[in-house]
Amino acid sequence: MFKGLTALVTGSTSGIGLGIATTLAAKGANIVLNGFGDAPAIESLRAKLAAEHGVTVRYDGADLSKQEPIERTIGRALSEFGAIDILVNNAGIQHVAPIDEFPVEKWNMILALNLTASFHTIRLSLPAMKAKKRGRIINIASAHALVASPYKSAYVAAKHGIAGLTKTVALEVAAQGITMNAICPGYVWTPLVEKQIPATAKARGITEEQVISDVLLHAQPTRQFVQVDEVAALTAFLASDAGASITGAIIPIDGGWTAQ
Ligand code: NAD
Repeated sequence: MFKGLTALVTGSTSGIGLGIATTLAAKGANIVLNGFGDAPAIESLRAKLAAEHGVTVRYDGADLSKQEPIERTIGRALSEFGAIDILVNNAGIQHVAPIDEFPVEKWNMILALNLTASFHTIRLSLPAMKAKKRGRIINIASAHALVASPYKSAYVAAKHGIAGLTKTVALEVAAQGITMNAICPGYVWTPLVEKQIPATAKARGITEEQVISDVLLHAQPTRQFVQVDEVAALTAFLASDAGASITGAIIPIDGGWTAQ
């Protein structure tokens, strides 16, 4: 499906991004992996993806909360592959605290990674997409791009920002064969969700078990976590030729959460 195309998936050493990179590689795309983690584990992941799917897989461990590393990462990908045909802005972090106790450095970091990094990757990837008259940009936003939850001010602000960025850029490039959409998952069981459970329990004065049943799964009428593979399959569809007319869309995949 994606033979000869290249996908950059930010934050693809873990969770949703890893699932997306695996799915796109299985459908023939060359992959640029990005994210933090144990170097030997990342190298064996890189080699496994390349060998199993017969595609080129590179790893770039840039810290995307900073402008210069983003510029280097995109520059390297463009010089090796000619274009980033499928850009998946997925890297993201969370911090849970009441607004009047919210650490300023956490606010700055969340806005830098969850919002501003996408501004940079998009602006730097677009010229090559325009030259090819084809491109797919998929932002992994969140149900929190549509609705709020208490104690997640920076995350909710950044994700609402991504929704606005998605609609705006989609309009700017609509006539040039390039689509841009935001996928809005509900809760997916990944390290990002697991790590926020203790802080949510503290902020709400409940146990960690209650956070899972009364906060996370309570938000989703299905009472199930969304699966990584489901988010990856939706990403692959949007990246395919069949997704050509879907642009500027803010698409929930949240077990009914935002239908309420
Ligand atoms: P995760 O913690 O499993 O993965 C995050 C990835 O981002 C990792 O590869 C990590 O190394 C990378 N990363 C962190 N800081 C980085 C930085 N400064 N530079 C580059 N990479 C960095 O999280 P996840 O749950 O898979 O989340 C992925 C995306 O999905 C995030 O944008 C998140 O907001 C969004 N999302 C997650 C959920 C959920 O329930 N898990 C729900 C909705 C949206």
